[in-house]
Amino acid sequence: MKQDYYEILGVSKNATGPEIKKAYRKMAIKYHPDKNAGDQAAEEKFKQAAEAYEILSDADKKARYDQFGHAAFEGGAGGGGFGGSMNMEDIFSQFGDIFGGAFGGFGGGSRGRARVKGSNLRIRVKLSLEEVANGADKKVKVKRKIKAPGVRYKSCDTCNGSGQVMRVTNTILGRMQSASTCPSCQGAGELISHRPKEADAQGMLVSEETVSIKIPAGVTEGVQLKVNGKGNAAPGNDALDGDLLVVIEEAAHPTLKREGTNLHYDLYINFSEAVLGCAKHIDTVTGKVKIKIDPGTQSGKILRLRGKGLPSIDRYGHGDLLVHTNVWTPQNLSKEQKQFFEKMIHDDNFAPNPSKSDKSFFEKVKDMFS
Ligand SMILES: [Zn+2]
Repeated sequence: MKQDYYEILGVSKNATGPEIKKAYRKMAIKYHPDKNAGDQAAEEKFKQAAEAYEILSDADKKARYDQFGHAAFEGGAGGGGFGGSMNMEDIFSQFGDIFGGAFGGFGGGSRGRARVKGSNLRIRVKLSLEEVANGADKKVKVKRKIKAPGVRYKSCDTCNGSGQVMRVTNTILGRMQSASTCPSCQGAGELISHRPKEADAQGMLVSEETVSIKIPAGVTEGVQLKVNGKGNAAPGNDALDGDLLVVIEEAAHPTLKREGTNLHYDLYINFSEAVLGCAKHIDTVTGKVKIKIDPGTQSGKILRLRGKGLPSIDRYGHGDLLVHTNVWTPQNLSKEQKQFFEKMIHDDNFAPNPSKSDKSFFEKVKDMFS
């Protein structure tokens, strides 16, 4: 014996449309599978309520039910087309919007409205090599949308705060359900209820803010850092602020070139300095350093200053600074200078002898003070 539809929903036979809807909503929430996982009795009640609501919310079906009772929809008698038991998908596709914001839909909250989030902002920050080496605290000015002070929002009536409306269309394949963004609130689930004068239609205004960004040492060109919640806000009480994305750019250094965590420096010494040896000041990211060039240094020799490169962003330790020695050959010689070199051209001490030169290509530098 099938239970009376009015009894199922707990309403009188004289209940109005809104009363029936309200009663159904209450039942649907009470017996919703999200709240009653694995409870067969609750699922049955949930289905019964949906069936009752399907009949009683439809004027034509309700009239037939009032006249003939369940018989109206059994066999071919009433010509009803309502088979008697609905599956869960049918229920959600047809009545899901009635549950409002209480539940996302069938299968738990996963299908529910994601919290609306404001758009991200992206800025570029240019760092010197010294800032890359040491890390930097940067202050940037950002124009971002914020909720105007005093703005208030209310739940959207069109979609009951879900942000989506369900459309059911009858096709030759059967009933098709499609969800679309609520036209009233554009998916936000909320509408503005009080808008301060200075705010735009969505209750927002543009504010210029100074944002502090802590940039870790060792970042590289193109790295994107994220400052949570410093992008654009979105309308609605529930909405999250977008993020501020900070894209790192490296300013070119006048003398140092970066290769990963290593740095390269081109040192030019003159012919006499190469022959006699010398001391030179070179740039590093932590200031000038004096290095000693040995007598007889060849062009192309690389001096490695360990740990004078850049810190690694994900590992401990530093790269090295590689000093490339270039011996500058004099080009405009006086007559006397020319004669001097002409005298030496066949001298044994001027003869190239690569095999006798330094065996260790990467010579440890004599760091006089660092
Ligand atoms: Zn809406």
